[in-house]
Amino acid sequence: MNNTTDNPPKKNLVKEILAWKKKREAVILAHVYQPGEIQDIADFTGDSLFLSQQAAKTKAKVIVFCGVLFMAETAFILSPEKIVLLPEIKAGCPLADTAPAEKVKNKIKELPEAVVISYVNSSATVKSLSDYCCTSANAVQIAQAIPSERDILFIPDKNLANFTAKRSKQKIIPWQGYCPAHNILTKEDIIKVKKLHPKALLLVHPECRPEVCNLADYIGSTRGIIEFTSNNTAKEYIIGTELGIFHPLKKNNPDKDFFPASENMVCRDMKLITLEKILCSLQNLEPRIIVPEEIRKKSLQALNRMIEIT
Ligand code: SF4
Repeated sequence: MNNTTDNPPKKNLVKEILAWKKKREAVILAHVYQPGEIQDIADFTGDSLFLSQQAAKTKAKVIVFCGVLFMAETAFILSPEKIVLLPEIKAGCPLADTAPAEKVKNKIKELPEAVVISYVNSSATVKSLSDYCCTSANAVQIAQAIPSERDILFIPDKNLANFTAKRSKQKIIPWQGYCPAHNILTKEDIIKVKKLHPKALLLVHPECRPEVCNLADYIGSTRGIIEFTSNNTAKEYIIGTELGIFHPLKKNNPDKDFFPASENMVCRDMKLITLEKILCSLQNLEPRIIVPEEIRKKSLQALNRMIEIT
């Protein structure tokens, strides 16, 4: 949990950030995998698409995205009139990086009849090459909307693709990417942690391996996991997603116990942003994320087709 309020230098830093936020007419967004002290100063916390949609609804002139590059790109795609800042330009997504645009273009040429669905965790260029985008919460629904005789090329997460194929019963060709923070969780880890907490429910993200998902009581997006724990009467949960989620889980449910499925479920890129970098970014209005207009328009079409279905 954060200790910002007990730490005078941090408290001053937060004060300065809030003053600059006001001056810049900015909104601060934080993904739930961000460090707790960053989630605590954000105007909105949640998953990447939800955050971009919330920011688009505000009158803010500047969006500070505390997350990774594809998230800031998505915020720009939805709000091109706003300045979008990513406080640490090196914060990328190893999963999105498994699908470089040139390789995706070649694969699409090989499979001209396939419908292309890209997970929001992909670059703006890959989104622009896709027929539909999807999130981990709606991937099954999007796949089910495709006529069953069509093949679906699903980019970039193979585990989410397998989960979607299983639930939607559609013919899915998975891109072979994976998220290191989720793919690291093994069946052996689960067996070990379940022995320690036999009464706990196991909740995992669909970016986890199929053999891990098969053992879960619930498989869902970060928002799904947060809602599940708030609405369920069980007192103990084993959580199979990035450790940043423990911050909102504990905050929302002080009377419940949460155990990590593995202490190794950490996304290094998500931890690159700091309070100091947020302040610097607000002061200098850098680093800015801009998506070229042609790519932005095509990505927006793929996102809008998803929104129409859901
Ligand atoms: S947790 Fe996985 S999908 Fe999310 S930013 Fe990190 S590497 Fe990418």
